[in-house]
Amino acid sequence: MHKVFTAQCGSYQDDALKELIENYFESEKERLKEAKRILIKPNLLSATPPDRAVTTHPDFVRAVIASLKKYTDAELWLGDSPGANFGKYEKVLDVTGIGRAAEENGVKTVRVESFEPVTVNGFLYSSLADQVDIILNLPKLKTHSLTGLTLSVKNLFGLIPGSVKVGFHRSYPADKILAEKIYSYFTLLGHKTMNILDGILAHEGDGPSRGTPVSLGIAAASSDSVALDISVTRMVGLKDTFCLTNLAAINSGYDISGIETPVTNVALVKIPLSRRLYIPPFLKKLVAEQVYVKPLIIKDSCIKCMLCLKSCPVDAITVTDSYPVIDKSKCIECYCCHEVCESDAVRLQRSWLHKRLVNK
Ligand code: SF4
Ligand code: SF4
Repeated sequence: MHKVFTAQCGSYQDDALKELIENYFESEKERLKEAKRILIKPNLLSATPPDRAVTTHPDFVRAVIASLKKYTDAELWLGDSPGANFGKYEKVLDVTGIGRAAEENGVKTVRVESFEPVTVNGFLYSSLADQVDIILNLPKLKTHSLTGLTLSVKNLFGLIPGSVKVGFHRSYPADKILAEKIYSYFTLLGHKTMNILDGILAHEGDGPSRGTPVSLGIAAASSDSVALDISVTRMVGLKDTFCLTNLAAINSGYDISGIETPVTNVALVKIPLSRRLYIPPFLKKLVAEQVYVKPLIIKDSCIKCMLCLKSCPVDAITVTDSYPVIDKSKCIECYCCHEVCESDAVRLQRSWLHKRLVNK
């Protein structure tokens, strides 16, 4: 198990962040020195400004690149496949500020979909991952309506080309099974990663995109993604298994006995609405019509961009009078539409019984 470096930082300019990154790079200096090409992989979920805390902060990316250049002469690329990517990659790079952070440091931006897909062990991913020696994974600490948290294991999911990601939700609608598949996919590429997590301005509530920013001041780094994710889950006051990719790793035999529990004075308070009630899988089908959290489109906020329709893995969204409409009977509660809507026009609606069982 690799060491997990952790720090509490007042801001992205805090010396504690620089120190954390340099200590981590120092521990991996031989690997960095030998690398010919490195892919910087931030979370670039959608075209949202840095203060919404949906994407890795551009100042975090700047701090990483500044230190990285002291340890390697490798060619640096930066890329991702945003969930709401449908032809808008340049906009995502621009609005998040990450395009500028790359450009001003001479880092080339690349698009996951521009590289041929390859299939290994039944998983398809972009061959971009095969063209680099190190994937420098820079996840954002966020709650996630399906997987509880999205951390470093989940962040690699972005190396699956956009439309194929949608298929994952269709094939594996149950949250735990989806997390198991994400973990299996991660194991193909995990050995190539180095990970530095941005939890300085984090995201809580109905994440990964419709929650609220929260200043947690956490940064963490490790070449063991699972150890990093478990440490961070503990740092924010949650059980290891609240994050379903942690659960998938543990169920696959990952040994957590050596993972330290860093002491912090912060906690994630708002967890996603969809994760506040545990229903065992055998009961789920029986109560599905009484206990649910389903998306609802608010016409007044809708700009008719149809990102929601394109993201729906089961074609539950159609168009009526030029507005998207959700067929609740088809909806599998994957929340992709909620995640990709940039106009806050997809809200989550709870059933009567859900409201009775779970206090908001
Ligand atoms: S609900 Fe959101 S994503 Fe869907 S069409 Fe309207 S604005 Fe676009
Ligand atoms: S309507 Fe939204 S939540 Fe329901 S299946 Fe489609 S994308 Fe998923």
